[in-house]
Amino acid sequence: MWARFKGDFDAAHKWHLPGVKCDTCGVTWGSAGHQYPGVDLSQLSEQESFRSRPVPVAEFERLRELVRPLAPPNAKLPPGTSFGPLVGTASGKFGPFTSQGDILWLAHRDALERLQAEGVRGLLGCRTELRFRKKDAPELLELQIEPHGRLHPDCMPPDLPPPCVTCGRVGFRLPEVATLDVASLPMDLDLFRVGNFATVIVGTERFMEAVHHLELPGITFRELPAR
Ligand SMILES: [Zn+2]
Repeated sequence: MWARFKGDFDAAHKWHLPGVKCDTCGVTWGSAGHQYPGVDLSQLSEQESFRSRPVPVAEFERLRELVRPLAPPNAKLPPGTSFGPLVGTASGKFGPFTSQGDILWLAHRDALERLQAEGVRGLLGCRTELRFRKKDAPELLELQIEPHGRLHPDCMPPDLPPPCVTCGRVGFRLPEVATLDVASLPMDLDLFRVGNFATVIVGTERFMEAVHHLELPGITFRELPAR
């Protein structure tokens, strides 16, 4: 699912868990799609440590433990997870929804509230710190879309190596036919990311029907098989 991109912004989240430089698998990496714009790290004392610059695994794990009590329970918090408001500049015309690739979604407050009034569950809009040059700038919220559930094991490559024992990295590309594992999906959310592939954003049928009913333009849906 994605939304047509009309506005333009140059912004980043305020805080990041760093990427890791792993001596076991030899890979320097950070993951995409793990974003918690509603989580505030301003009370942590080591502000300069929460940048995306890669660090050794032990240092990453130390920083992750500082963040864990502030993050939602059971959040995986892989290297590269970001937190806090989007800070930067924005210009142009934003639709009810604007997505940046598969990574993040901005919504007008009004569009979000109308979806919630239609009974769409689990939408969390977080404030942004985007500066517009023009007057009467729109109030844009970033959706905190959390990873839940997983892809069905049958659609994963059969020769998938196990995760790295030190840093936990699993290297795989999105299968051509991605299938959701029904038993793993959340029952009470109409919008979420796939837990083991967080750049795939899933809206339920209820979400899609509400978008169509309210005639909110810009979102493209593609059906994902599930079993
Ligand atoms: Zn590793």
